[in-house]
Amino acid sequence: MNSSLNAGRRARELREVRDVVVDVLVVGLGATGAGAALDAASRGLSVAAVDAHDLAFGTSRWSSKLIHGGLRYLAKGQVGVAHESAAERGILLRRTAPHLVSAQPYLLPLTPSVTPAQAATVMAGYRLGDALRAGAGTPRPTLPGPSRVTPERALALVPSLRPYGLRGALLSWDGRVVDDARLVVAVARTAAAHGARILTRCRALSLSEDGAQVRDELTGAEFGIRARAVVNATGVWAGQLVPSVRLRPSRGTHLVLRPGALGGPRAGMHVPIPGERNRFALVLPQADGRIYVGLTDEPLEGAVPDVPEAPEADVAFLLDVLGSVLAEPVRREEVAGAFAGLRPLIDAGDGRTADVSRRHAVLRSGGVVTVVGGKLTTYRRMAEDAVDAACPHARPSRTARLPLVGATTSAVNAPRRLVERYGAEAEAVQDLMREDPALAEPVALGVTRAELVWAVRHEGALDAGDLLDRRTRIGLVPEDRAAALPAAEAALAAP
Ligand SMILES: Cc1cc2nc3c(=O)[nH]c(=O)nc-3n(C[C@H](O)[C@H](O)[C@H](O)COP(=O)(O)OP(=O)(O)OC[C@H]3O[C@@H](n4cnc5c(N)ncnc54)[C@H](O)[C@@H]3O)c2cc1C
Repeated sequence: MNSSLNAGRRARELREVRDVVVDVLVVGLGATGAGAALDAASRGLSVAAVDAHDLAFGTSRWSSKLIHGGLRYLAKGQVGVAHESAAERGILLRRTAPHLVSAQPYLLPLTPSVTPAQAATVMAGYRLGDALRAGAGTPRPTLPGPSRVTPERALALVPSLRPYGLRGALLSWDGRVVDDARLVVAVARTAAAHGARILTRCRALSLSEDGAQVRDELTGAEFGIRARAVVNATGVWAGQLVPSVRLRPSRGTHLVLRPGALGGPRAGMHVPIPGERNRFALVLPQADGRIYVGLTDEPLEGAVPDVPEAPEADVAFLLDVLGSVLAEPVRREEVAGAFAGLRPLIDAGDGRTADVSRRHAVLRSGGVVTVVGGKLTTYRRMAEDAVDAACPHARPSRTARLPLVGATTSAVNAPRRLVERYGAEAEAVQDLMREDPALAEPVALGVTRAELVWAVRHEGALDAGDLLDRRTRIGLVPEDRAAALPAAEAALAAP
């Protein structure tokens, strides 16, 4: 079946879904829900999957984009969780999404505030991480081992480091996805290719063991979807549909710096947070040249918003930590944008919380299976566990061996930027520019008009927000978004 998602397919499948009973209804189309739709559809089950907004509207687009090997869990003695993370990283890097996920180097600068004993402890941890890599069967050429580098090499990789007192740096490698929202789009389209009905702008109003009451957010029409099993994959919003799931979210903020900031680093950084043991801020250079700096961990007060805001206090905190290792601090006016995502913590009562950001939870209530927590890295495993719980008689999951749309390790005859984002489909995106040279015109950050048209025709983009905030990430910087809006509207008007 075709993997293309667009307004025409949505309208057709919305009509069809009212007249059938599907095997599985998945609610929420972040990484977990899209993964569950793919897992179920590829087992041969009939699937409908709905999202109140868009693919990757929630937390899945606000991550640090690390596809990580679980080292931090080893430090806490959680060997099983660490191994699961390393195994899923290997699956993404080598089999399911080699076009979207690649290895990235990170430096931990050895400044005067990092003692030799601390450096030795961190290096021992990196070596354990390397052992996890080996245990998960990911070869060294795919993900190199750790090493210590000289101050000269550290400065060559991150030119903005403060040279004074620098004893060198520890160099380690981990996985990184080119864009978390694009990973979700690829998973959802692969599910669609297996026959799943992927329905965005459809809000579940209530769930029961045999389906959901749903509202088409574009028309206001309400209708029922009947299903033999229901999976609630609505992330931090899960408790709104299943009240027995009580969550207390915590906010993680990232800054967005413009391309060229920090002297154009060729590696990311782990920056020790002053006064804390074993907690680091991250400097994350992106494929589009921008640099993200994260990450805070603050309890969210009040209701869960659709789009969380990054408060000034978080911005100031991250700038302070970053400044502790730079020759010249980054000034507030150099911060082009900021974004925040919410981690779900399960409210265990008595003021206690259970952190499910490491190991996910699969909970059953009133016939509905809720899957919550975990990581982008482990979305596939979470999806498998959720479908196993919801459909105990289904055949086993196949997704560990199922390449996502665009996955390829062969050479593709297209510019690198396109191949990193579209994989094998990059040539088809380029063909659009050949057919109509006006589509080769860049919109922002090297994104062309052809990519916007592609997103409308094949990636389910229905409005300018879908195009600018999720199919591309132009919208992370408000001025870039405003400049690109006319191009997005043009792509929607004449797809
Ligand atoms: C700040 C931060 C950084 C992170 N960094 C990383 C990282 O670097 N690497 C990593 O592996 N993991 C990371 N994570 C974890 C990872 O991002 C999450 O585990 C993952 O994205 C959760 O995906 P999800 O599909 O469960 O939820 P979400 O992505 O939030 O999806 C839930 C979806 O449900 C929809 N929805 C809500 N209510 C309804 C309704 N009533 N009807 C229909 N749809 C509804 C929403 O619109 C949304 O699209 C990070 C998390 C945070 C908070």
